[in-house]
Amino acid sequence: MAPRRGMLALAVACAQWLVFVCGEENDSGSSVTAINRDLYHSSDDLMEQIEGLVQRHPSVLSMETIEAANKGYSGELAVVTYSRSSKDSDQRSKFRILLSFGQHGRELITTELALRLLSVLSGEQFLANVDHVSLNRTLDKLIIKVIPVENMNGRKLVEAGDLCERRNGRGVDLNRNWSVDWGKKEKDYDPYEENPGTAPFSEPEAQLMRKLSIAFEPHVWVNVHSGMEALFMPYDHKNTTPDGLLGQRMRYLLEKLNVLHCHKRCMVGSGGGSVGYLAHGTATDYMYEVVKVPMAFTFEIYGDGSASSKDCFRMFNPTDVRTFNRVLNDWSAAFFTIFRSGVEQLDQINSNRSSISDKWVSIDDYLSGYLMERRSRYGKKLEVLDFGMQEIRTYFRLFLLSSVLLMFMFCSRISKTVVVDRLSLRFPNTST
Ligand SMILES: [Zn+2]
Repeated sequence: MAPRRGMLALAVACAQWLVFVCGEENDSGSSVTAINRDLYHSSDDLMEQIEGLVQRHPSVLSMETIEAANKGYSGELAVVTYSRSSKDSDQRSKFRILLSFGQHGRELITTELALRLLSVLSGEQFLANVDHVSLNRTLDKLIIKVIPVENMNGRKLVEAGDLCERRNGRGVDLNRNWSVDWGKKEKDYDPYEENPGTAPFSEPEAQLMRKLSIAFEPHVWVNVHSGMEALFMPYDHKNTTPDGLLGQRMRYLLEKLNVLHCHKRCMVGSGGGSVGYLAHGTATDYMYEVVKVPMAFTFEIYGDGSASSKDCFRMFNPTDVRTFNRVLNDWSAAFFTIFRSGVEQLDQINSNRSSISDKWVSIDDYLSGYLMERRSRYGKKLEVLDFGMQEIRTYFRLFLLSSVLLMFMFCSRISKTVVVDRLSLRFPNTST
């Protein structure tokens, strides 16, 4: 038996090697491209690289791992924080940015961008045409949280050979599991690709992201994907963009990014209006509508429209070194444009502070009261609603019931006393 098992293992290894080197034929006979390991890290390798960066730069980078589980399935998120000051008080006054990569397993290029961005932030890699003094001045005023691989379980499936997998480890699309317009199905709904889960936030990964965003209260959110070249703002679930100043600010920034970093090739506008289909229960709509993030975006950083629909690695990821590097350079530079624009907003706040000496203007006030509103209406209250509202209702009901009983006892006692008094007045000698 042993030699036969050895032969089998050898045959599997040879087949894997052939797929690795040459790609494979699918059912329709078209060629499928395998993951290019010369360009792409495995997820383990990628996380090891990121841990190395954090260890080498503890004064600016830190990392925590958060976990959640339900019904026998668990999800884990590594969260890397970049901040040039460790004081909490400083952190609340900074411009806060939350960036998520790898929400869909097959979009490997996005997680490579996370690594590149962290390398630049730590100073181990450099951006072309960037003055380091002004860059450091910008970074002083920011706090950036990066989730390098939001969907680690789905990514593992892709690495095991399921190259078209975008969902999490139990088949749910993490970008359909959020509560804004959750579960609505369009005519072209694909139950395989877009499975929204059994309920909003049924998935541990989405629960963790929601908790993180509510606690961090970012000013900018970017959900980084691939499959096309696009810069999206809300809404995904309807064919419109937000009205007013916030909508204008978002569009202005995206138009600027398109010119500076996307060679004017990117589609710009609402996700729902531009792609040609509406998406329900997405992260970006939740960030904008519920967490009240004033600038909430989805970036699509690369796509090969000529690839066959079965050739997922090629459709979602650059396969040659030149394109791979071009995508990483362009999009890491795009993030630094966003960082600078955040700091320009902070500087404007500071100039308002000096001109209005008796009134302190916070970032939240500056953003048209939008974030103040989220704090009172959604931030802390949302957590209370989620975890304590049932208990509060029960205690309130018990309190009301006991109050009514006490009132009843009190009133009946008074009426008895009055009757006795009246009787004793009417029959003064009867008692003695
Ligand atoms: Zn995607």
